[in-house]
Amino acid sequence: MQNPRCDFIRAIQNNDLARCLVKTAEIHGHFCPGSALGVMASVYGLNRLGMGSIPSDGMEKLMAIVEINACFADGVQAVSGCTLGNNGLVYRDLGRHAVTFAIRGREVGVRVRVLPGFRAHVSRASPEFFPLVEKVIKDRSGDEEDAAALREMGKKSAFALIQLPFEDLFAIETARPDLPDYAPITESVLCPGCKESIMATKVVAVGAGRSLCFSCAGRRYRQVEGGGIVAKEHRVQPYSTEDQA
Ligand SMILES: [Zn+2]
Ligand SMILES: [Zn+2]
Repeated sequence: MQNPRCDFIRAIQNNDLARCLVKTAEIHGHFCPGSALGVMASVYGLNRLGMGSIPSDGMEKLMAIVEINACFADGVQAVSGCTLGNNGLVYRDLGRHAVTFAIRGREVGVRVRVLPGFRAHVSRASPEFFPLVEKVIKDRSGDEEDAAALREMGKKSAFALIQLPFEDLFAIETARPDLPDYAPITESVLCPGCKESIMATKVVAVGAGRSLCFSCAGRRYRQVEGGGIVAKEHRVQPYSTEDQA
């Protein structure tokens, strides 16, 4: 196939939300309201941007700025093709169900946000969904049967959401996105500590032409996790640097 994303592109152009949801579940692992909302926001936002002019090849022309690291974000990654790995995705740690799509070189993009009333729509489609989330995910007190019921209810509510009119669930507005520069192409250097190849921008100079990776230098680093972007301390003993002085 010429374009590995042709299936998605066709589905977006045809507004085929069910197809996009099924394909999203391949990476997300389950059907749920959050990923369904990410799918809907993306299909709508990309068509508003003008899908015909969108390269959608993961080469950082099309950018997505997603404001939450929850199920929603996987709908965005799958449908838009803007991912963590191709640097088309910017994760802004704001905890909002919203995404902005922009094209480099164009001043104006679109921001799609989920309206706060979405939970009522989920409950209407599946009254058991949120109580099951409490039990199985939050309290971790459910059994196998509860987990299976949650999967079923997640699927039911996801497919119900995509039937709803867009305006019931979302607001869309034009936005002037603050895009980062293209991801830098950096050289690799060999860390003398772990002997692994490291991006040259991710080393700490420890004198006399020696540069250690953050891990070996025991330097703080940042990681994306459930709670957002957090600073972390190394727990392991850093590589010995006694011969630097
Ligand atoms: Zn999910
Ligand atoms: Zn190292």
